[in-house]
Amino acid sequence: MKLLVTGGAGYVGSVCAARLLESGHEVVVVDDLSTGHEDAVPDGARLVRADIGEVAGELLAEGFDGVLHFAAKSLVGESMVDPAKYWDGNVLTSLRLLAAMREHGTPRLVFSSTAATYGEPDQVPIVESAPTRPTNTYGATKLAIDHAITSYAKAHGLAAVSLRYFNVAGAYGRFGERHTTETHLIPIVLQVAMGTRERISIYGADYPTADGTCVRDYIHVLDLAAAHLLALDHAVKGEHQVYNLGTGTGFSNKQVVEACREVTGHPIPAEFADRRAGDPATLVASSAAATAALGWTPERTDLRTIVSDAWEFTRARG
Ligand code: UDP
Repeated sequence: MKLLVTGGAGYVGSVCAARLLESGHEVVVVDDLSTGHEDAVPDGARLVRADIGEVAGELLAEGFDGVLHFAAKSLVGESMVDPAKYWDGNVLTSLRLLAAMREHGTPRLVFSSTAATYGEPDQVPIVESAPTRPTNTYGATKLAIDHAITSYAKAHGLAAVSLRYFNVAGAYGRFGERHTTETHLIPIVLQVAMGTRERISIYGADYPTADGTCVRDYIHVLDLAAAHLLALDHAVKGEHQVYNLGTGTGFSNKQVVEACREVTGHPIPAEFADRRAGDPATLVASSAAATAALGWTPERTDLRTIVSDAWEFTRARG
């Protein structure tokens, strides 16, 4: 298939673009490089350096079999202090993309949605029918886009799949996580092991969890990429399918730090700090629907494997 990958210079987008190319697809990456990196775009992909909202029409006029839409603003904290950046950057941009897809008859869309669409869950593991009550603007914008996609699928016959990622981690060779503003637990802990940060602050030790720290469901970026390839094949005209992607197993922040100590051999000094606003105690996915509908099963579920791959990537970059 000829595929447009928005945000293909970013973390998840670059890994997916690499896997799509390896599977024989033709890939055009569109990325404005506001948070992505030119050298993260895999060899063999054409890079169009532009804002997707501005060039979607022109690009899709070439004729594409589908779009994988990763491009987004994704910092939860920033979304609370600068919501316009998120409503414009995520929602407006995606609406322009949807309009261009409709105009040019692009048949398929795979969209990067998020566990943040659910907010604080009543029940874990979280199933797709759970209430969607995002606790931050980032999650609200992703949910708004999901609603728009549902309407386009119903009204205009788009074949769409939204994938709700839980905590993405790990790396694929030279493709990994490198945000200028890093807020995610594993890369921050690895910065301590690299010596570029003194210690890790664990936010909150009084959560209602086994060891008092938050519990998250870490999904290896390669397993995530595999789900995108399956979603492309299983997209159905006129339907918007929504699937959670996680392993179904939660690890506490303390367990993550411990796994990083084991993998890196570094003592990783840690301290407890206040809770971070908006952090639910436990987020664990039920991915039963993705398994049933897409035939997807995560394979790299061991936390040490996930951390090892991220560590290898971090060390190689120096
Ligand atoms: N966290 C932490 N210290 C940090 C960064 C994150 O204790 O320096 C915690 C955060 O409060 C949450 C967990 O690690 O409980 C995962 O946070 P992350 O930002 O990686 O992902 P999120 O679950 O927010 O999407």
